[in-house]
Amino acid sequence: MPQATPLILDLASGLYLHQEASGKTVLLGGTDQYTWPGFEEVVDKSMAEDFFQTAMETIPSTINIKWLRTYTGICEQTPDFHPIIGEAPELKGFFLANGFSGCGFMHAPAIGRIVADLILQGKTDRIDLSSFQLDRFANLSL
Ligand SMILES: Cc1cc2nc3c(=O)[nH]c(=O)nc-3n(C[C@H](O)[C@H](O)[C@H](O)COP(=O)(O)OP(=O)(O)OC[C@H]3O[C@@H](n4cnc5c(N)ncnc54)[C@H](O)[C@@H]3O)c2cc1C
Repeated sequence: MPQATPLILDLASGLYLHQEASGKTVLLGGTDQYTWPGFEEVVDKSMAEDFFQTAMETIPSTINIKWLRTYTGICEQTPDFHPIIGEAPELKGFFLANGFSGCGFMHAPAIGRIVADLILQGKTDRIDLSSFQLDRFANLSL
């Protein structure tokens, strides 16, 4: 794979892949979309094998990848896989910036500015936040 490969994310399968800065290792993983929400942090090797299989089918050059190690972590997912950003509808002065799934680090600098705008000015001109309001889930039965 080229050394400067950007993060590749396949929303259909949940697979993601990116080359580490060293150019020698690849981080390959995904979200287990079928696990019931909870706090389990045990690596399910069968899931890892599924991600490997999907990677080989999607990006054939990954067939040469040697499996070094696995780890797992808890990811917070909203029902539409998009974050919640804005003032809590029923709690004035309480600001939400969560539900970033597996993308929270890379979004953090921009989200910090957006939330600072909301706190200091009560609005932001940087992006349209209407798709990220908490109340979009108001009529959703979970
Ligand atoms: C395996 C894995 C790989 C990832 N890889 C990437 C990546 O490559 N790039 C990327 O951009 N993002 C990645 N992410 C996502 C990124 O880690 C998260 O989006 C980001 O950490 C979210 O930051 P946060 O501050 O919103 O929430 P968190 O980091 O989850 O922080 C929330 C904090 O609140 C605390 N807390 C929770 N409930 C309470 C409570 N009731 N009272 C007090 N404290 C509480 C928690 O203990 C925690 O410290 C990955 C996530 C995982 C799990």
